[in-house]
Amino acid sequence: MTALRKHNQTEVAIWLLECGFKPMIVSNQTGISTQRAREFHREIYGIGSKSGQIKSPDGAIRTATAYMSASYCMSLYAAMTPEYKSWIDMGTLVRAIQLHQKLGLPKNCQLSCNEFYNIALSLRSGCATLEPCSKCSAKHLSVRRMHFAPYCPYCAAVGGP
Ligand SMILES: [Zn+2]
Repeated sequence: MTALRKHNQTEVAIWLLECGFKPMIVSNQTGISTQRAREFHREIYGIGSKSGQIKSPDGAIRTATAYMSASYCMSLYAAMTPEYKSWIDMGTLVRAIQLHQKLGLPKNCQLSCNEFYNIALSLRSGCATLEPCSKCSAKHLSVRRMHFAPYCPYCAAVGGP
């Protein structure tokens, strides 16, 4: 690896950690070792990364608000990343998360960036899909083993013809 490439890799890793991604994800996405990602995390936040599993998409989407939030964020992501079924575009994922946060949903209704990452993985693997609503045509998430049947969260929230 060239020195420049290594420098860029480190820069992206630090940026992703600052966005809130776990060291394991940062390691997967940038190629730096998990140990190095953990060291960076400790330097940035002054503490080690919390261990523990990230909620699976079906575990993260348990309320109507979380469902709307996830559908909206991932629709933005998919619209900006036409190849979302082939690979994860971290830059665009962060952008979609930031745009979606401008919705102003209460913090406790928002999913974490790590949970969004898991949903992006599910979209890539086909365990989650974006389905167009037959009424409004906007796309909403359908997640395998989701705790309720998929529906259009936008039509449910604002009604319509
Ligand atoms: Zn709809």
